[in-house]
Amino acid sequence: MRYRHSTAQSAEYLRLALKRMAQQEASLHPASYAIWYEYVAGINPDLQVAIDSRLTVAGRLDDETTYGLYSRHVAGLDAQAALRIGDSVSHLVDQVAESAVAAGDHAGRFGSSLERWGESLSGASDAGLVPGLADILRGTRDMQQAINTLRGRLDESTREAQQLRQEVVRAREEALIDALTGLANRKGFDRALSFCMQEASTDAPGPCLLMIDLDHFKRLNDGHGHLFGDRVLATIGQILRANVKGKDTAARYGGEEFAVILPQTPRGGAVGLAEALRAMVANCRVRRGGSNDALIGNISVSIGVADHVAGESAADFIGRADRALYAAKVQGRNRVSLAPRPQPDAGK
Ligand code: GH3
Ligand code: MG
Ligand code: MG
Repeated sequence: MRYRHSTAQSAEYLRLALKRMAQQEASLHPASYAIWYEYVAGINPDLQVAIDSRLTVAGRLDDETTYGLYSRHVAGLDAQAALRIGDSVSHLVDQVAESAVAAGDHAGRFGSSLERWGESLSGASDAGLVPGLADILRGTRDMQQAINTLRGRLDESTREAQQLRQEVVRAREEALIDALTGLANRKGFDRALSFCMQEASTDAPGPCLLMIDLDHFKRLNDGHGHLFGDRVLATIGQILRANVKGKDTAARYGGEEFAVILPQTPRGGAVGLAEALRAMVANCRVRRGGSNDALIGNISVSIGVADHVAGESAADFIGRADRALYAAKVQGRNRVSLAPRPQPDAGK
């Protein structure tokens, strides 16, 4: 359990956290409470350092910084822990399942040979002639019985181990998924990108990367409320999930930023998809509240596209897509911009 404070202790942290939250620019949402609770309780040293340095630079924390700190230092920790635990449980379960199967096979083979031996003894000999033979036969049958029971139990353990394994796989997947949009989260994105870069070959095109950022999202939040903002994020999630499939990965990169990884895709294909996604978002309408509420339009995204060049690091690749995204913003938003490829001698 992450928090082990008594009611009195946590009430005191609540009071202290509220005081700090009230001094910030960010709204009083659960993400804000989580970071300030951990801050005042002194249970998250990395978060403390990060908050202190943000306060030194900016004076007050805004929503975006608050969300960023929350996802990196609070939610991210849970995800990392879940992944670590998931990995070791998975390994353990595999080992148990393997041993159970092997033990079951051994027990089965031993049981069969006892059975054969028992049959040959009782058939071939007059039990009365060999002293103690009847005892041996009885013992053999008892042993066989015990082995059958053991086999049954091992089968059951194997089934349980397999079930547990499936649950671990599901929990692992959940730790890599963003709850609001159903897309890969930042951790899922990092994994997918590093996997795709390992697999990349100089013979095939790609990979390409799309960095997508909602335009004037703060304005949408301010005008229609944070809940509506969340609904917009979920809608972008739906559009991405419906249009990014197969080997491609769509992720929520952070707050109102998304990313799409396209392995084995030439830059023309990546720009085409980016343009299609941009148009779908520009045409979408999101309901403000319940089913009778107005539909809100004027939602748009800017997209930066980069195609990977051989030898480029993940950070440089992301950086180029990010700069292209920034260029799309500067050029007026609601548009796609393609990153220039680095000059061969650049950065040497
Ligand atoms: P730009 O076109 O330059 O990207 O402008 P912007 O307003 O989208 O960018 P800015 O970085 O100024 O603001 C981003 C906003 O996104 C601020 C923050 O409150 C909001 N945001 C981040 N995460 C979430 C979230 O999970 N839900 C909601 N509703 N808003 C979020
Ligand atoms: Mg942004
Ligand atoms: Mg934005």
